[in-house]
Amino acid sequence: MKRNVLVALAAALGSLCLASGPHAHRSKDHHRVVFDKFPSEASFLRQDLRPVVDQIIREHGELEWETVVLTSEFHTHLGIYSVIGAKMGLKAREHFGVGLDRLVVKSFAGRKPPVSCLTDGIQVSTGATLGHGTISVAENAVPAPRAHFFLGDTGICLALKEAYWQQVKGDIGRIIQRHGALTDEYWAAVRRLGIKYWAEWSRDDLFDLTLVKRP
Ligand SMILES: [Zn+2]
Repeated sequence: MKRNVLVALAAALGSLCLASGPHAHRSKDHHRVVFDKFPSEASFLRQDLRPVVDQIIREHGELEWETVVLTSEFHTHLGIYSVIGAKMGLKAREHFGVGLDRLVVKSFAGRKPPVSCLTDGIQVSTGATLGHGTISVAENAVPAPRAHFFLGDTGICLALKEAYWQQVKGDIGRIIQRHGALTDEYWAAVRRLGIKYWAEWSRDDLFDLTLVKRP
């Protein structure tokens, strides 16, 4: 009997949760869908990630580890802007104190890689995706690594600080000069820097935050 009451309560809470989300099929707060425990053991990892996994989890937390792993698999390579986008989306969630699928996002990263790679990291880290209809890309804006995040009518703009952006632009320019654009060596060098900045750059330092109104 007691168990039936608990089951009924859980079902009621579950439907409340579904009803309160920004779209119909928002899932419960437990964010994992397939994995129960997310892998971080060295034997699961590509060779170049094995030396930094402990540092990444220690300094940025398991959630960022998991988020950037999923971003990289989804994005089909490990890049600098996609890592920054993942960190940006997590920062926005922390600002509002919310889990996945709660924010509506407008990205200003344009539609041309490498800057537009930012938007893939934002999708994975916030759950605001094209499929859910909760993210859009601003048209007619000069592409930049920044995005607006809204919870209801409250919004913030997170923009990669100028000094970091200059460094990323300089890095990518030097890689292209040295290896040519989109060559195997180019992707290898971008990956090396993506891993380095994932490990070294804190999402608490990377972004300028300003308040914005929902249009
Ligand atoms: Zn990319």
